Amino acid sequence: LVVLDRVNKHFGALHVLQDIDLTVARGEVVVVIGPSGSGKSTLCRTINRLETIDSGSITIDGRPLPAEGRELARLRADVGMVFQSFNLFAHKTVLENVTLGQTKVRKITREKAEQTARTLLDRVGVGGQADKYPAQLSGGQQQRVAIARALAMDPKLMLFDEPTSALDPEMINEVLEVMRQLARDGMTMVVVTHEMGFARSAANRVVFMADGRIVEEAAPDQFFSNPRSDRAKDFLSKIL
Ligand code: ATP
Ligand code: MG
Repeated sequence: LVVLDRVNKHFGALHVLQDIDLTVARGEVVVVIGPSGSGKSTLCRTINRLETIDSGSITIDGRPLPAEGRELARLRADVGMVFQSFNLFAHKTVLENVTLGQTKVRKITREKAEQTARTLLDRVGVGGQADKYPAQLSGGQQQRVAIARALAMDPKLMLFDEPTSALDPEMINEVLEVMRQLARDGMTMVVVTHEMGFARSAANRVVFMADGRIVEEAAPDQFFSNPRSDRAKDFLSKIL
């Protein structure tokens, strides 16, 4: 579904993505881990073109990422993204947050969009919060609304960049459980996370990044029990 081929990206003198080759198959859950500053967020952001790349190519369904205009808006809808900070529209209700993109980008009628929104809000367990504003919700609830909002666009792929890092411990699991369910339902997902329990239980593949490179790629069992590279061993010894 997604193919990155020798992708390079610089921020000034910093070579933040170095010859990244990555393929994500339909229905696959890829967890990206690695030390701070290794390029994980940048990698995610290139996949929906929040960042441009300097060389190499990225294709989704065999097509290169569009550069601008309506095509780009459609790409952002096809590739749902959930960030560490919840990024909901503060002045819109929960229901409006999940309805807006559907009517604006997907050109779905308001009635149909609201119906979809309510179904999705129920599915992520916040159906009762539809008429509230984001600030009236807990962090975990806001993050589940953010997931529902991305899902409302009927995406081909979901990117998660540390979706639970800003949450209090008791709210982390409710968000991870929604993500686990999504994985079980066959959604294609790229997930940057420090939640190793999630990586072990939900990932088909773990990608370990360091210094802008993919250092190691393996099935979770293999990666956690028997990492091959010294960088990965060192990283795991610090976090496990
Ligand atoms: P973390 O685990 O802390 O979120 P990360 O692996 O997501 O780290 P990135 O956010 O991708 O890392 O950043 C990789 C490197 O690129 C870092 O050194 C960062 O300072 C730098 N960087 C990121 N965004 C920019 C930017 N817009 N301009 C300049 N440098 C940037
Ligand atoms: Mg990051």
